[in-house]
Amino acid sequence: NTALSASPGGKITVCVRKRPMSNSEKSRAESDIIETGRGMLSVHEDKKKVDLTKYIEEHRFYFDHVFSENDNNQLVYQSVVSPLVNKIFDGGNATCFAYGQTGSGKTHTMLDSREGLYILAGQDIFQRILSPQYKGIQAVVVFYELYLNDVYDLLNDRKKLHVREKANHNVCIKDIAEVSVASVNDLYSVFEYGNKNRRIGSTGANSESSRSHAVMQIQLRRPKGSNPIGHTIGKLSFIDLAGNERGADRGDSQNDHNTRREGSEINKSLLALKECIRALDMGKSHQPFRQSRLTLVLRDSFIGNSLCCMIATVAPNSSNCDHTLNTLRYADRVKSI
Ligand code: ADP
Ligand code: MG
Repeated sequence: NTALSASPGGKITVCVRKRPMSNSEKSRAESDIIETGRGMLSVHEDKKKVDLTKYIEEHRFYFDHVFSENDNNQLVYQSVVSPLVNKIFDGGNATCFAYGQTGSGKTHTMLDSREGLYILAGQDIFQRILSPQYKGIQAVVVFYELYLNDVYDLLNDRKKLHVREKANHNVCIKDIAEVSVASVNDLYSVFEYGNKNRRIGSTGANSESSRSHAVMQIQLRRPKGSNPIGHTIGKLSFIDLAGNERGADRGDSQNDHNTRREGSEINKSLLALKECIRALDMGKSHQPFRQSRLTLVLRDSFIGNSLCCMIATVAPNSSNCDHTLNTLRYADRVKSI
C-alpha cells in the first residue's frame, strides 16, 4: 500500500497535517478554509476586489502525505515515522520535524507526553529490542532546548551547554546528560521530567515554549567490549520547532529588543534548516550547517545514511490563513525538486 509508506528512495518526506477546529474557533463561527485530499491540500482564501466584492482564491499544494483533522498520531506514525525507526536499526540517523505557527499542532504531533510520535516510536523501538535479532541493543535519551543561540539541557536542570566542532567536523554537545531507558515507561518518565524544564514564563506555557526549538533524541547503542559509552548504531530525533510566525521583518515597534532578536534567530534557523534539508536531498556534500546553531547541532543527523521527515502543521480557520499559506509555501520549497 503506497499510501502507507514514505516516498520510495527519497531521503525526505514532506507532509502536512491539518488540525481540527478548536472550540473557540467554532464558537466564533469561523469557517474552515482547508480541504484535504490524497496527497493534496487546498486553501480557500477570502479576498476582496478593489470594488470590495468578495471572492475566494484557491491555493493548491501537493505533498508526500496530507493528514486531515480526522487522522490521529497513530496513522501519522505508521505512514511516515515507522520508516525512520527502520532506518536507525539499520545503522542510519533519522530526523522528524514539526514546522508551523504556534497553536497549529506541533507539540501535539511530536511531543504530546502520552500520544506524541516520540512515544509511539518508543513503543516500536522497545518491542524490537526485545526480539533476538536486536538482543543487547540499548536506548539512551538526550533532550535539549535551543533558545536564541544557546543550548539548554532539559535533563539536567536547564544547564547551558557548549557545542564543539571537532577537527573531523563532528559536532558534539559537551557534557549533555544521556539517560538510559529500558522501557516505554522509562522513556515516558524521562520525557516528563525534561518537559517540566522547558522554557515556561509568566505569559503561559505555549507562548514561551513556542520561542525555542525542543529536540528529543533516542539513540540506539550496542555495548562494545569494555567501552562504557558503547557504540552508537543510529539516532532518531524529534524536533518541535519554534513557532514560525515570529518573523524578524515585521518591524513591530512594540516588540522589544529581545523579542526582535528571538524572531530573527528563529527565522535564521528555519531558513538554514530548509537549505540543509534541500542540500541533503540533492546529495550535495557541502551543506550550510554553520548558518545556525540548530542545523549545526543536527549536522550528523543530516549527512550520510539518513532520513528526514518534515510535518508542516496548519490550523483550519480563516483568521490564520496568512500563517497557513506561509507554512505551506515553506514546506513546498523543502520538497524535492
Ligand atoms: P503548537 O505546539 O504548534 O503551538 P499545540 O500542539 O499545542 O500547538 O496545539 C494547540 C492545541 O490544539 C492543543 O490544545 C492541542 O491539543 C490541539 N491539537 C493540535 N493538533 C491536534 C490534532 N491533530 N487533533 C486534536 N487536537 C489537536
Ligand atoms: Mg508547542
